[in-house]
Amino acid sequence: MNELFIKPNLKSAQRRTKDETIIERSRFNIPDEYLSLGFNKKFYLRTYGCQANERDSETLRGMLAMMSYAEVNTPEEADLIIMNTCAIRKNAEDKVFGEIGHLKQLKYENPDLIFVVCGCMAQEEEVVNTILKTHQHIDIIFGTHNIHRFPELLIQAHFSKERVVEVYSKEGEVYENLPVNRVQKAKAWVNIIYGCDKFCTYCIVPYTRGKERSRLSEDILKEVVTLVEEGYQEVTLLGQNVNAYGKDLELDYGFAELLEDVAKTDIPRIRFMTSHPWDFSDKMVDIIAQYDNIMPFVHLPLQSGSNEILKIMGRRYTTDEYLHVFDALKTKVKNIAFSTDIIVGFPNESEEQFNDTLKMIEYCQFDNVYTFIYSPRHGTPASKMEDNIELEVKRSRLKRLNQRVSVYALQNNKKIVDSIQNVLVDGPSKKNPDVYSGYTETNKLVNFIPKKAKAGMIVKVKITGANTWTLKGEEV
Ligand code: SF4
Repeated sequence: MNELFIKPNLKSAQRRTKDETIIERSRFNIPDEYLSLGFNKKFYLRTYGCQANERDSETLRGMLAMMSYAEVNTPEEADLIIMNTCAIRKNAEDKVFGEIGHLKQLKYENPDLIFVVCGCMAQEEEVVNTILKTHQHIDIIFGTHNIHRFPELLIQAHFSKERVVEVYSKEGEVYENLPVNRVQKAKAWVNIIYGCDKFCTYCIVPYTRGKERSRLSEDILKEVVTLVEEGYQEVTLLGQNVNAYGKDLELDYGFAELLEDVAKTDIPRIRFMTSHPWDFSDKMVDIIAQYDNIMPFVHLPLQSGSNEILKIMGRRYTTDEYLHVFDALKTKVKNIAFSTDIIVGFPNESEEQFNDTLKMIEYCQFDNVYTFIYSPRHGTPASKMEDNIELEVKRSRLKRLNQRVSVYALQNNKKIVDSIQNVLVDGPSKKNPDVYSGYTETNKLVNFIPKKAKAGMIVKVKITGANTWTLKGEEV
């Protein structure tokens, strides 16, 4: 058998080097003879997880368009199925494995079908071993560090009819030359930093996405300016930890400076995601407060309200330090809204420590909270910790937490009933085409009766009603 086999290795993924990141700018090329490989063929792409994955999928779409593939909405219609996976929690992985098993039948019906698994799960040694052992119908596995190699791997699998596995354990270059087919016409994801060096003890991301590598500001600004020229209304600056932007470049130019430079372009709306409170400087707060096109909404992951748990999590801040950032934003940025992440049931979390989290929820009164039961990830320090908390206890804590979270979400939504909000229109809602939906500056979803609204416009909407997670309104 002549299989291409490079498997991931956890030990190499854990290592960090001081190597300078190389920026690849040469023209992205697919040999002419393969530009029609996908002629009359269709691909189905399913994306799991975070916005970084959504953005990677847009790159895959760009490559597939270059190779003449057309996208379809169901796997049954496809000649090529790609699953761009997420490794952040076990149940996300279970879902992917369920889907891989479920779609096996399609491969029996059509042996020419090419089935691809990529993304963060493909960076995990354990996952790749399981796929190799039990899922013979997967033809290609590649990881987050060699997305640029996808066309080459596809060509190899197509002609050799053999399995191709190529996953690099260590991050490589920053690619400035990859094609992109954006899914949305008014909102764009813009990567600013890849990877993460924080190594929170429960998190797999530093192993699946590699070390922090910032793009150069001139490349980011050029991309934003092009998006403005193309009529985009909103950019979301992306990174596992955007606030660490620039630290690896050592140029005395960080996220605050980048945010200000992006705000000086003509882009109407700027968002950013995700922020680590430890790297959130006072200067960043001031820049957010200063520019109207930086949206008054911050996702600021807290994870736990207990200082003891935060320490074991390796989060590097105390609740007081978190509140320093939170309060500064709340005081300086008019009408700001917040969302956060909370993990309940971290190993040995006591009732008292959980109650500390509830106290933080009472104080911060977040607009939205993404709540999770702790999920051990193989290879992380936390996964080796003994855990004496029963799953039932964790579930009951999650329920209590969610109840409190809903109270504040509804309360915050009710506060803006009767106000007029600027809403970036997504388009007609799926359930009822007479109702449109869009997002306020504070990232709240509004379903509203349109007058002149069209997808991609920013319109004024009077808020007429509030539910826990959505608002109702009428265009004015
Ligand atoms: S900051 Fe922590 S939680 Fe976020 S990606 Fe990095 S290691 Fe994971």
